[in-house]
Amino acid sequence: MELSILATGIVRILGITALVILSYSMVIRNFPNGWKKSAAIGILFATGAILSMNDAVMPAPGVFFDGRTALLAIVYPYGGLIGTVIAALLIAAYRIWLGGVGVVPGLLSILMLCCVSYAAARVPVRKIPVGFGRSTLIGLAASLSIISVVLLPGEVVATIVGAPLIAVILANIANVVIIVNFLEREKSRLRIIRALEHEASVDPLTKLQNRRAFDKAALRAMNDNRAKAAHCSLIMIDIDHFKTINDRLGHYTGDTVLADVAAIIQKNVRLGDVVVRYGGEEILLLLANTKQDAANALAERVRSEIENTDFVSGSESVNVTVSAGVASLGEKYASMEALLKAADKALYHAKLSGRNRVEVA
Ligand code: GH3
Ligand code: MG
Ligand code: MG
Repeated sequence: MELSILATGIVRILGITALVILSYSMVIRNFPNGWKKSAAIGILFATGAILSMNDAVMPAPGVFFDGRTALLAIVYPYGGLIGTVIAALLIAAYRIWLGGVGVVPGLLSILMLCCVSYAAARVPVRKIPVGFGRSTLIGLAASLSIISVVLLPGEVVATIVGAPLIAVILANIANVVIIVNFLEREKSRLRIIRALEHEASVDPLTKLQNRRAFDKAALRAMNDNRAKAAHCSLIMIDIDHFKTINDRLGHYTGDTVLADVAAIIQKNVRLGDVVVRYGGEEILLLLANTKQDAANALAERVRSEIENTDFVSGSESVNVTVSAGVASLGEKYASMEALLKAADKALYHAKLSGRNRVEVA
């Protein structure tokens, strides 16, 4: 077969590979880690492989060279066991459906590629780091699957050996190098985006969420409430006489007290509750599925725990108390805006009534 035909075929394979890479980015963004993500990656790799098999280079009648080699060789490190099994089964089914003299060697090569893929995932990254060297080795190992052609009739094998065989091996290596390089870029891009998103929504001193995160959570809670008619409450907490603590013991101690108060509050809430540093020493709790009685009880528990905690500054112990305002979604307050105002007003009343207390709107 002419090398130029093989070369154009390889370019087409790389084109399909590019589509797989683009879709991979969408999959890792939208699926949390778990079996669904593995399955999606398996289906994605199989789709890329099948598209490529549809547009395969045919070095001999019934014998196909296509992008499935590279995709299968790296499916395990990205899709795990579930992804590999799904990809292998789909590709094998399609290969059987295509038919021709290459079916048995084709199935054998799929099995060999799954083994290569598994081995690729098992070799520790600290021994062979992800990069050109590792990808070249995977590409070479994947090319071993070509051995399965010995099952073909002698005259067919004769048309493949020589320059086409070398070109196919080089194409496999190039394909693995390119795919792995781009998939790794996507993974690291997503890691950076996640880290920036986290930094943009968390307050560095208290490690609580910030107002931006609250706005998003509030929107989610309101949509949820409309959909499920569930309950939702807000608790606005403010440290009493915090300015005096700062003035008497210094700003550094003030910071420590604020962080400790935040930790006590965070420890008392459930996983889905949102705790926000709303202002300087004002902390807002957004409690999904929580009626007023439960919110009130939580505010009282937090207030009492803070009152009874020994905050220490050097050798000195500091008495810290908080006041809280509680408001719950219902007929009286139907929007998040109204709820916020009500919680703030209740907090104001708690301050006016002597502090270290909880008031309900
Ligand atoms: P009240 O009981 O009425 O709430 O009195 P307060 O002194 O707590 O209230 P005020 O609003 O007068 O003072 C709040 C103080 O909180 C003033 C501000 O310097 C301090 N503050 C705000 N953010 C921080 C922070 O991050 N660290 C420290 N150390 N202090 C802060
Ligand atoms: Mg205060
Ligand atoms: Mg305040």
